[in-house]
Amino acid sequence: MLRTVHPVPLEEIEAAMRAHGQWEGELRHRAKDGREVVVSARHQLVLGTDGIERILETNRDITERKEAEEALKESEQSLMYSEQRLHLAQEAANAGTWEWDLGTDSNYWSEEVWRLYGLEPNSREPSYEAWAESIYPEDRPNVEKAVQEAARKGTRLSVEWRVAGRPGSERWLMSMGQPVFGENGEVSRFIGIVVDITERKKAEQLKDEFISLVSHELRNPLTVMLGSLKTIRTPGLSEEDRKALVDNAIDGAESMEGIIQNLLELSRAQAGRLALASKAAYIRDIILKTVENVRYHYPERVFNTGFPENKYRVMVDPVRIERVLYNLVENAAKYSPDGSEITVSLSTRGSELVVSVADSGIGIPRGRVSELFEPFRRLVDPAMHTRGLGLGLVVCKRLVEAHGGRIWVESEEGKGSTFSFTLPLKDDVCTAGA
Ligand code: ADP
Repeated sequence: MLRTVHPVPLEEIEAAMRAHGQWEGELRHRAKDGREVVVSARHQLVLGTDGIERILETNRDITERKEAEEALKESEQSLMYSEQRLHLAQEAANAGTWEWDLGTDSNYWSEEVWRLYGLEPNSREPSYEAWAESIYPEDRPNVEKAVQEAARKGTRLSVEWRVAGRPGSERWLMSMGQPVFGENGEVSRFIGIVVDITERKKAEQLKDEFISLVSHELRNPLTVMLGSLKTIRTPGLSEEDRKALVDNAIDGAESMEGIIQNLLELSRAQAGRLALASKAAYIRDIILKTVENVRYHYPERVFNTGFPENKYRVMVDPVRIERVLYNLVENAAKYSPDGSEITVSLSTRGSELVVSVADSGIGIPRGRVSELFEPFRRLVDPAMHTRGLGLGLVVCKRLVEAHGGRIWVESEEGKGSTFSFTLPLKDDVCTAGA
């Protein structure tokens, strides 16, 4: 005995039988063992010899067919989902997948591969030639050599090459392919992935430039140091010459120390490890100490520090503020002519102290001020041969901001610049010695 699980309304069956003599459809029943079965049913109205109408019911069990259909539908859906997932992953990773059948020379490229090769998807037959044509001619020989070698040896393929990007720019791609072997043991196809590695290449290039720049900047003072120290050994030197050579060597060492300090501060700031050792300090003391240091290296400049008393006390890491001031005062000296004046001045703005360093040097080109605080950015004409890494102002900005202050510049090209920064005043003591 079968119990209908999802019965079709009896009236509907009856109406169909009256109209067409029969009803046909699918019914779900619960079998005696509890199993749900699907049947293809036919109900016919039959008139008996006794004149009574009876229903002749035929059922064909189609449960297995139904289950197979449902499983197929589910797997098609899950295939569709995994294709969508793969597509999303490829889009996010700027990567695509490809297959290359060596025997028939037929290719499959996912949509992203076309895009990465700079081609409209399915605009032509995907082929080895179409791929090779998209490669920069200079890179083609190496890439083709690597492909041939991987196919011959049956090894994994790994190549990098450039393709044309937006006008004036190039993009770097990397492809990795896994060989698949045929029955004869030879490579029959490659299955692979191609990825846009432009950002990685740019970072590598930047790192190389950085290393060469830093090495160059460190080598200059080192050469001075070495030269001076070796010359000191020369017999018969006067005491005066010997002292001048020692001074030169110290000069070189200090210059190297400055570069290394800036590099260390920047790397600490980038890594979020800029821990300040703050304490109450008189800003005047820090300024005077710094100016003396710079004056030693630039004796031909005139330094003005017009604040006689220890008026302002700030809560700062004195070593860090000394670094900020050194970078600013040294820049003022470096980018201004012999005999010109450099003035360090103080003023207050509410609860903030404003420290300003003014020079009457080369100034900064209009509209380029925002570039100054970017790492390794130098605006000076290389012909001026001023030494520097383009790190000082970035370090100033990071250190001032770590103290809760701001830094800015007012400048006119050819006339001079004034760099200013703020520091929070230590409010309990504003006057001492005044
Ligand atoms: P560096 O002096 O080592 O190049 P900085 O970060 O200290 O690095 O300065 C970045 C650039 O800003 C300098 O290369 C220069 O072009 C410009 N600059 C900085 N200070 C001054 C100044 N006082 N006058 C004119 N230009 C300056």
